[in-house]
Amino acid sequence: LRSDMQNSEKFRVIGELASVFAHEIRNPMQVTRGFLQLLNDPEMPNKKKEYLQISIEELDRANEIIDDFLSFGKPTVNHSQRINAGNQLQRAVSIMQSYSLNYNVEFKTNIQENCWIYANPQKLNQSLINIFKNAIESMPGGGIVWITCASTEDGNIMITIKDQGIGMTKNQMERLGSPFYSLKESGTGLGMMVSFQIVRSFQGKIQVNSEKDKGTEFIILIPRVA
Ligand code: ADP
Ligand code: MG
Repeated sequence: LRSDMQNSEKFRVIGELASVFAHEIRNPMQVTRGFLQLLNDPEMPNKKKEYLQISIEELDRANEIIDDFLSFGKPTVNHSQRINAGNQLQRAVSIMQSYSLNYNVEFKTNIQENCWIYANPQKLNQSLINIFKNAIESMPGGGIVWITCASTEDGNIMITIKDQGIGMTKNQMERLGSPFYSLKESGTGLGMMVSFQIVRSFQGKIQVNSEKDKGTEFIILIPRVA
C-alpha cells in the first residue's frame, strides 16, 4: 500500500512539473532555432556573431531551467528509502562549493548525526541545491550561509539554511514558490516551486523567515524515522 501511494503522488508531481517544464524550455529552444535558421541565410553574413551569441545565451537558459528541475547528479531513478539527511546536506554543500566561491560565499555547517528520514535522496538533493543557490545568489557581495540539521522533540528532523542576503518583503515571501515568480534578471522562478513540492512529497514542510536587507532563513521539517 505504501508504495502504491508513493507512486500515485510521484506521478501527480511528475505530471505537474512536466507541463511547466515543457512550456518554459520551449521558449529558448524556439528562439535558438529561429536564429540558427537565419544563420543559414547567405544574405545575412554580418549578423552572424550576434546571432550565435544569442543562440548560446538561450541554450544556457534552457540549461538553467533543466538544472532547477533535475538534480545535478543522476536522473531520479531511486525510490524513497531510509536516508541520513545530514549526509545528504553535506553532499549538497560539496556540490555547491565552486558556485559559492564565485560569489565569495562561505558555508558554515552544524550537522547532527542521527537525522534519519524516509525520502528519495536525489530529490532531497535537488530541493536543497535550489535553496542553497538562492541563498548564495541573495548575497552578491559575499557572506555566510549557515546550515544546520538536528532532530526535534516532536518527531521531525529540522534543516535550517540561513543567509545574510537581500531578504524579502512580506509580499515577496507570499509569492515565493509560485511558478515563474522571480525577481532575478535571468531567473527561472521554478527553483522554489520544485523545492516545496519535493519536501511536501516527503510529508514535510518548509517555513520561511525573512527580513528585507537582513537575510532569510529556510526551515525544513521532515518526519524522522528510527
Ligand atoms: P529564481 O531563483 O530562478 O528567481 P526561485 O523559485 O528559486 O527562482 O526563487 C524565486 C524568487 O524568490 C527569487 O527570484 C528571489 O526573489 C526570491 N528568493 C528566494 N530565495 C531567496 C533568498 N534566500 N533571499 C532572498 N530572496 C530569495
Ligand atoms: Mg533559484
